[in-house]
Parts: sequence; structure tokens; C-alpha cells
Amino acid sequence: MSEEPALDYLLTTDFKWTRRAFELLQASQLTVDPYEAGGAPCFVVSGPCPRCEHHMTDRQVTTALAGLAGPDRGVEGRPSTEVLLDVTCGCVGEHGNAPEGAVGCGASFRIAVVTE
Ligand SMILES: [Zn+2]
Ligand SMILES: [Zn+2]
Repeated sequence: MSEEPALDYLLTTDFKWTRRAFELLQASQLTVDPYEAGGAPCFVVSGPCPRCEHHMTDRQVTTALAGLAGPDRGVEGRPSTEVLLDVTCGCVGEHGNAPEGAVGCGASFRIAVVTE
């Protein structure tokens, strides 16, 4: 039994983390839960980081969506919208070479969420 050495901190936005995150989502290991905060749709991403596999939680506030600031005018055929969440690993695991105050392993990835 050998312990896995801790991964070094590395700022990376490699697409493979996005692809791995997608796999984790499919396997329901990584979850995205919507919540409301002041009218804007927000999401909590929770699960293992695609890179270091430490548990992480990331709160995402979607500000990029247009037309949500105003009052709702009827609910006719609301189109589903794909929201892209840029998530950065925020695990509390140990990673070598991490800069002062940095959290996580430095990996960033993208999750696509379809809202209704
Ligand atoms: Zn980690
Ligand atoms: Zn990580």
C-alpha cells in the first residue's frame, strides 16, 4: 500500500479537467445544485475536484444571464438556457508549491448547466 503523493499546486485550465468534470457529473459524483440568492440564479458545485480529487465546494453566481434583473412578465415558454460555470478547485487539501493564501490545487474547469 503506497500513499499517493500530494499533487503540486499548478494553475491549469487544461481541457482534460473539464472533460473529467463532465464524467464526474455523469457519474453523479460531482453535483450542481441551483439556489436563489437575491433573484439571481446561483449554483453550488460540490464533489471531487477533477484534478486532485479532494472534495470541494464552489458557489457560483451567474451574472452573465441577460434579462433576469427585471420583474418576471408572464412565464410563456421559457427557453432553457445553458449556463457555463467556471469553477476553480477550492479544496482544503494540501498541495506543494501553493502560493500564499491559495486554496485548492489550481485547476480550473468548466461545467455546463442547463436551466429551465
Ligand atoms: Zn486538492
Ligand atoms: Zn483540485
